[in-house]
Amino acid sequence: MPKEKTNRPPKKIFTPLTVLCLVLFFLSSSNFLLYLLQYAEAKQLRGELEAERETNNKLSHTLEELTQELNQLQQKYAQLEEEKKEWGEKRAIGGSGPTAYLTFDDGPSENTLLVLEILKEYNVPATFFVTGTNISGDEHIYKRILSEGHALGNHTYSHNLNTIYRSVDVFLEDLLQMEQIIFEQTELKPDIIRFPGGSSNTVASSSVMRELISTLTERGYDYFDWNISPEDSAGGVVSAETVINNMDRGIRKHAGRDIVVLLHDHYSSHYTVQALPRIIEMLSDQGYQFASLQKGTINMKHR
Ligand code: ZN
Repeated sequence: MPKEKTNRPPKKIFTPLTVLCLVLFFLSSSNFLLYLLQYAEAKQLRGELEAERETNNKLSHTLEELTQELNQLQQKYAQLEEEKKEWGEKRAIGGSGPTAYLTFDDGPSENTLLVLEILKEYNVPATFFVTGTNISGDEHIYKRILSEGHALGNHTYSHNLNTIYRSVDVFLEDLLQMEQIIFEQTELKPDIIRFPGGSSNTVASSSVMRELISTLTERGYDYFDWNISPEDSAGGVVSAETVINNMDRGIRKHAGRDIVVLLHDHYSSHYTVQALPRIIEMLSDQGYQFASLQKGTINMKHR
């Protein structure tokens, strides 16, 4: 007799328990994967952080070095400013009368060396408004002028009135070219200027001059004209005596007042060199004291 077929329900593969297990397994596996991914990401971030930290350390080190360097430069600058001040201090000879500021334009030339000797002999400080053509025979002439107690002013590099007064930009370029030369030799940038031809020159237009003066003032420069010109560079000068006579007339005209004297140490200024001792003596006899020009010393401006 055939065995009666038992009709048992088929065995379930996915019992609730199995499903639960599978879900848990799936969840834990995906968590584990997620954990692995996060771990890798964290590791990468840590690496990046360390690299950043290293760069930071290097930068801090560089910053420290630069700060030290800056401090040293500031100290040096302060020291140079102090020296400049000392050089510019008034060294009086003669009485306590008005002050004479002797100024020499258009050098340096070999005559500058002669002028420096005379000034040294009389212990008189002066101001040299220099141009870019150094043919004095002393390659350290700018440094020498300063080291002997005189002031150094900028008279533009080219001194070419026909080009420098075309515009403010052209003038500035020429001026800064001269400034750079002086800076390379002396580590100082003169803040005093004499305009070629003076601020009252007739080459520049009024509007260019006006703009120039305001630009230069904004940039911290001062400029000086003169109230006595013995006309030592005029074409008609025939002797030192003429220069001395012109000077004498100027002194009498400005009696009792501070004077800024326009002289020249150009290579052609032989009569200036010859007249200089007498000019100094005349001023000393009149009780003048001598000083070099510094920014703001005296308001001597034609415009
Ligand atoms: Zn000049």
